[in-house]
Amino acid sequence: MNEHSDNPFENAMRQFEKAASKMNLDPGFLEIIKRPRRAVIVSLPIKMDNGSFKVFEGYRVLHSIVRGPGKGGIRYHQNVTLDEVKALAFWMTWKCAVVNIPFGGAKGGINCDPTKLSPGEIERLTRRYTADLVEIFGPDSDVPAPDVNTNPQVMAWVMDTFSMHKRHTETAVVTGKPIELGGSLGRKEATGRGVMFCVREALKKTGKDLKGVRIVVQGFGNVGGIGATLMAEQGAKIVGISDISGAYHNPDGIDMAKANECIIKNKTLKGFEGGKKIPAEDLLTLDCDVLVPAALENQITADNAGKIKAKIIVEGANGPTTPDADEILSKNGVMIVPDILANAGGVTVSYFEWVQNKQSYYWPENEVNEKLERIMVESFDSVWNVGLEYKVNLRVAAYILAIKRVIDVIKVRGVYA
Ligand code: GLU
Repeated sequence: MNEHSDNPFENAMRQFEKAASKMNLDPGFLEIIKRPRRAVIVSLPIKMDNGSFKVFEGYRVLHSIVRGPGKGGIRYHQNVTLDEVKALAFWMTWKCAVVNIPFGGAKGGINCDPTKLSPGEIERLTRRYTADLVEIFGPDSDVPAPDVNTNPQVMAWVMDTFSMHKRHTETAVVTGKPIELGGSLGRKEATGRGVMFCVREALKKTGKDLKGVRIVVQGFGNVGGIGATLMAEQGAKIVGISDISGAYHNPDGIDMAKANECIIKNKTLKGFEGGKKIPAEDLLTLDCDVLVPAALENQITADNAGKIKAKIIVEGANGPTTPDADEILSKNGVMIVPDILANAGGVTVSYFEWVQNKQSYYWPENEVNEKLERIMVESFDSVWNVGLEYKVNLRVAAYILAIKRVIDVIKVRGVYA
């Protein structure tokens, strides 16, 4: 019997246990790597523009530092909970291990609706959050980055607040910064670019390339918008897109330049005329070859999984597919490139940014993109080969690869007591 859950941490555990059960591991080690090392909750009192005070709740979870400093974004959203942040931190550990970069996993979030906050309120909230976590963050301990509704400007405030407390400028404490502050060229596009590489590699395995392939993308932010644009540049036909304003369908292919213009003008796709507006819930089941969920968790569920027509799903978002949906899709022969591989391009270039900050030596964009491509293609192939070896789907394969890499390090480090 399947248990239904919207709790991302419980869902993450189910994915993890499925992979771990194929590995014949010491149960003690499994206990160690399942749990977060630390979870912090902070109350953030903020003076609003109208003079009133409001208190927001913030979180930072450090899941693992076995392979290096904790790494992971900060999310601002009205649905942020501690369990969600725990799941996201947990996924970061495996994501960094899948692409074999020397980081552990962490994540942060503030429960707030940023669309209802002014830039000044967001700045004060960010600075208060950072100040409260100043002993926790650090280039060698826990390095934040952007996530849902946070951006390079927010990272600049994190970096500045941290540096003011430390009495020296510390660029490597956070990644995804503005370029003039030590950000890496190519970081903004990195997650979308990584998604594009994964779609291309998945298609290759089925004897196809991006030219003329029909793709639906859910979410038009930093991952979906940039991913869709890059895939269209490679000749793919983007037949459906969506964001908070709604979903848009055009079987002849959506003009990405028009969609991006609309975003620049209105911030959302509201009023977009390059496709027919359809109910948001119909987007995922549109006729297409590849589906890229690049919004939030729990979008593909037992309710809609059976109706999905795409034969390949590439998870731009973290946790978009519930475990029940996963089983239905697997039975239907759908190839899923899992989040911990598909959206790892962002954290990979975050790693490049951190390296450049530590060396104070900056790389040209083509070097960043080439290194990213190499890591994404090698990681895709490694996951694919583990899948063949263990006769499992790509999600289970990605976890097996990542768990093995983390456990191998625990074994040589030993458990300190
Ligand atoms: N928030 C992104 C993710 O979920 C990027 C994290 C990072 O660059 O540290 O992978």
